[in-house]
Amino acid sequence: MKTFKSGFVSIIGRTNVGKSTLLNRLVGEKIAIISDKPQTTRNQIMGIKTLPYAQIVFLDTPGIHKPRHELNRRMVKIALRALQNIDLILLMIAADKAFGTGDQFVLNLLKDVKTTVFLLINKIDLIKKKKILPLIDQYRQQHDFAEIIPLSALLGDNMELLEEKIIQYLPVGPKYFPEDHITDQPERTLVAEIIREKIINLTLQELPYSTAVIIESFKEDVEKKLLNIRATIYVDKPSQKGIIIGKSGSMLKEVGTLARLEMEKILSTKVYLELWVKVKRKWRENNRILRLIGLAE
Ligand code: GDP
Ligand code: MG
Repeated sequence: MKTFKSGFVSIIGRTNVGKSTLLNRLVGEKIAIISDKPQTTRNQIMGIKTLPYAQIVFLDTPGIHKPRHELNRRMVKIALRALQNIDLILLMIAADKAFGTGDQFVLNLLKDVKTTVFLLINKIDLIKKKKILPLIDQYRQQHDFAEIIPLSALLGDNMELLEEKIIQYLPVGPKYFPEDHITDQPERTLVAEIIREKIINLTLQELPYSTAVIIESFKEDVEKKLLNIRATIYVDKPSQKGIIIGKSGSMLKEVGTLARLEMEKILSTKVYLELWVKVKRKWRENNRILRLIGLAE
C-alpha cells in the first residue's frame, strides 16, 4: 500500500489567466466563480480533492496586481498570505498573453518565497504549439520552477499529469478533511458568489468592481421545505442600480431566476430568493461592507 500524502497548494497568477477554472476542474464541481471580467474572485477559496492515496487542498486566490482601492489592497494581502506556510505554489500564466509588468510583479514576489513553484502555462488551446517552447525558455530564466506544465483548464488537457506531479511533491500527511468535503466556503458565501456571478455575466458593464452582494437572511422553512434567502446587492452609483434592475425589473428578474436555479442544484433544496439593490457610495472604503464580504483585516 502507498503511504498517504497531503498538502496545501496555492494557485496564483494575474487575474483572468484561468485560476478559478482550474480549481473547479480539479475539484470537479463549480465552487469558484468564473468570468471573463478580471477580479471576480475576491476571497480565498478552498477546493479539496481527495484520492485513495492523497488529499490535495487547493487555494484559489484573488489575482495579484498593484493595489489601488482599499479593496484591492486587501485582496493582494490575502494573495501574499497564501504563499506562506504551504506545500506548493502553482503560478499560472495565460499562453495567449504577452509578458508584462504584472508578470514581473508576481515573479518578484516569488523571489522571497522558499516554497516549491510549478509554472502552469494555461490556455494552450488558444495558441500554436510551436509558441510554447519559447515561452517556457523565457520563464525558466526568471525562476527555478520545479515543473513547467502547459495545459488547458477549460478543455481539461494535461490534468492527469498535473495531478500526478502535484502529488509527487506533497509530503506524507494526514487526511485533513472528510472525503465528501469539496470546499470550506460557507453556504452563505457560495450563494452570494452565485448572485454576483450572474450579475457579472448578464450585465455587459464593468460591474465586478462595483458590486457587493450581502446575504441578509438565510432561513430554512421546514414546513414549506424551502430555503428563504434575502440578499442585497450594493452598487456605487444610481446608474449601476439602473443597469442591474433593468427595464421594468427584467434584468434583476433574470439574475434572480438563474441564481435561484443554480442554488437549488448546489444546495439540493427549493429556494425562495429575494433580491434588493441599494446604492451605497464608496462602499469599497466601507469597513462594515468589506467585513461582510469577507475582507476583514
Ligand atoms: P481567474 O481570474 O484567473 O480566476 O480566471 P477565470 O478562471 O475566471 O477565467 C477567466 C476566463 O478565461 C474565463 O472566461 C475562462 O473561461 C477562460 N479560460 C480559463 N481557462 C481557459 C483555457 O484553458 N482556455 C481558454 N480558451 N480559456 C480559458
Ligand atoms: Mg478567479
